[in-house]
Amino acid sequence: MAKISINLATGSLQKEEIIVGIDLGTTNSLVAFINPDKEPKVINDAGKGVLVPSIVHFGAAGDITVGNEAKDFLITDPQNTIFSVKRLLGRSYKDIEKHKDFFSYKVIDDDSESLVKIKVGDTFYTPIELSGLILKELKERAEHALKTPVNRAVVTVPAYFNDSQRQATRDAGKLAGLDVLRIVNEPTAASLAYGIGLDPEETKTIAVYDLGGGTFDVSILQIQSGIFEVLATNGDTFLGGDDFDRAILDYWIEKNQLDRAVLLANHELSQELRLKAEEAKKSMSHQSIFNEKVGEIWCTLDKQTFESLILPKVNQTIDCCKNALADAKLSISDIDEVVMVGGSTRTALVKKMVSEFFGKPVHDDVNPDEVVALGAAIQADILAGNRKDILLLDVTPLSLGIETMGGLMDVIIPRNSKVPTKAGRQYTTSIDGQVNMKISVYQGERDLIKENRKLAEFDLKGIPAMPAGFPKVDINFLLNADGILKIQAIELRSGVKQEVEVKPTYGITDDQVEQMLMDSITHAKDDVAQRMLIEARTEGEQITYTVENFIKKHGTHLSVAEISDTQKYLVTLKEALTSGDKDLIHKAIDELNEFTRPFAERLMDHAVNTAMKGKSIEGAVD
Ligand code: AMP
Repeated sequence: MAKISINLATGSLQKEEIIVGIDLGTTNSLVAFINPDKEPKVINDAGKGVLVPSIVHFGAAGDITVGNEAKDFLITDPQNTIFSVKRLLGRSYKDIEKHKDFFSYKVIDDDSESLVKIKVGDTFYTPIELSGLILKELKERAEHALKTPVNRAVVTVPAYFNDSQRQATRDAGKLAGLDVLRIVNEPTAASLAYGIGLDPEETKTIAVYDLGGGTFDVSILQIQSGIFEVLATNGDTFLGGDDFDRAILDYWIEKNQLDRAVLLANHELSQELRLKAEEAKKSMSHQSIFNEKVGEIWCTLDKQTFESLILPKVNQTIDCCKNALADAKLSISDIDEVVMVGGSTRTALVKKMVSEFFGKPVHDDVNPDEVVALGAAIQADILAGNRKDILLLDVTPLSLGIETMGGLMDVIIPRNSKVPTKAGRQYTTSIDGQVNMKISVYQGERDLIKENRKLAEFDLKGIPAMPAGFPKVDINFLLNADGILKIQAIELRSGVKQEVEVKPTYGITDDQVEQMLMDSITHAKDDVAQRMLIEARTEGEQITYTVENFIKKHGTHLSVAEISDTQKYLVTLKEALTSGDKDLIHKAIDELNEFTRPFAERLMDHAVNTAMKGKSIEGAVD
């Protein structure tokens, strides 16, 4: 099937274009490529460094900085400095509520079921836009260093990322002007960097242990005929090298008999000590004693003490390895290779304990900060068709998906997915008592279905009348090896079911596929902007519907003033809905939610909450 590259600068199709590999990390991001000698190399643009801190700062004058320059603002301007945005990608507020104190910037908490937004000044940003800014910086650095336009990339994500987090990563790429050819699991990329899985004859089971600054995960992968299957993942998204630094800091506080509260209140000093603790930790990789002073505070550390301080944390990671093995229904002896990823795996005790646990030496020769990006570059090279020795699986050339509210395309099987494949997602209704649901299936890369190609349309009839948000409709796509797409819709509460089959490649030429791909790149920015506006509008319309319904049903429980104020907020929201300004809509939603939230709490009306839940397909058919 077709594999086409497009030069964004010239708008022409191109055969020999560099495809970069990007590790979009929680703390740091980096970009790599395959050099003319066929070796994967990380890009260090103009000596700015390989690692680009995944930090975005918004200046008062509207200026945006990304990376090291933005990092300095973490201390001087924390509200306007966004870090760790990857933790928010594709997440709802409910998902991250437990950790909200972690973020120094404002994460909007009005509607706990829909995707989070971040407020900077008067503007609302989605994690997709923020990640897009980081990817744009990486793209520009690559273009500057390689002196050529870079339009296509392979981007890595943690193996545990769900569908919505993967889609968010793709969208972020689009916003940055990058065609994300494939989303690759980080452990898969890391194994490719070690050459594991490159031989199609090879069958192996491997463990990838990834300990970064703030997160830990371990994945068990099975590699067969060049296909990487994730058997299990385990980890802790709030465990990493930062915990080692904190343990050292606590030790110094105790040793120097400092008052913890007084010290922590002194931001500058505690930050200096934290950095000193990190320095001491890193020095333990090559020396056994660290002895320095910060002002009057003795900062000493010996290797034995260091190891006893971090032992409980390292033990936690070993427990996760045990759990992952158990989930994969495997024992230690089934693991053929162990790959180390993440800066904190430089710690001697970590290497020793992981190696002892798995009973074999670990792969740690490749720089653990770079290994994922390097592997992504190798995957990019494979996709570019430059490694003829490697079996390239048949892929679907265009994305397949369905129409959701506002005429948006919701991709179920992304383009470049290997065939055969299956994927599904759950939807619900948007109107009380809706008994039919129209399902329209499309093919293409554009965000709006009207720009894509319609493949099929059918009605799922006979859904029992329930309040909006109650029905659970699973839509499953199954694309078989012959390119036949089977679409199945089933309402889980009632068992009502409907199935159709189509052949997506029927009646479409390679040239048309090329044209569709090219259009999607030319229109990427407008498309994403439109998608965001439509999503904001849909959210606004749903909330308007919910609040109006609420007043109709439960108005007697509210005071006259409360009702009239709610009406005012509703009018503001309705005006915003016609404005075409997504920030204005989000602001109006935010205010309406803020005002009405106590009503729902007062009444504990679950129906209201559930009506806000999930995605809904456009109105009833009848
Ligand atoms: P990552 O998130 O993969 O970039 O990992 C960053 C983490 O690795 C931070 O906590 C660093 O302090 C830690 N790190 C970097 N170098 C070393 C080292 N030599 N020994 C121990 N930890 C290190």
